[in-house]
Amino acid sequence: MEPLTEQQIRAAFVNCTKGESKRLSVPRDLAERPWSDLDYLGWRDPQAPDRAYLATVLDGRPTALALRCPSPTAAQRPRGMCSICLTTPAGGVSLMVARRAGKPGQQGNTVGTYICSDLACSLYVRGRKDAGPGARLQESITLEEKIQRTVAHLAAFVAKVTS
Ligand SMILES: [Zn+2]
Repeated sequence: MEPLTEQQIRAAFVNCTKGESKRLSVPRDLAERPWSDLDYLGWRDPQAPDRAYLATVLDGRPTALALRCPSPTAAQRPRGMCSICLTTPAGGVSLMVARRAGKPGQQGNTVGTYICSDLACSLYVRGRKDAGPGARLQESITLEEKIQRTVAHLAAFVAKVTS
């Protein structure tokens, strides 16, 4: 994906208030992130480990989600599969819950999915980060197809949040 600036990321949140998106923690090292190998940028709030965020570009538009890991340790499934990248990482997957955008969110509606706890899906798909033995399916499809599938899963999750 193309690099995003802090300003773009803050403006891209679809499921939190303007005030929240201004205050939430955005990584300081954006310039050093491996953007060309990322389908989304994911991070956790270092001050609040139950808060995670992801930012991506869908149909040319920066889109970001605020996520909660309701109970970071209990929800962690050591050998679960990530719904975004289909990796079963040694580091585990976490249930990440997004408040839905707009009115449904104000009424307390959420959607959740299991995502790699370290939010490193893009790097696992590309083999840039080792997910541990047996973590990746042996498949005959190309890397490009795996990336497209990952992006499709991500877009589907974002669509559930914004629908
Ligand atoms: Zn993943």
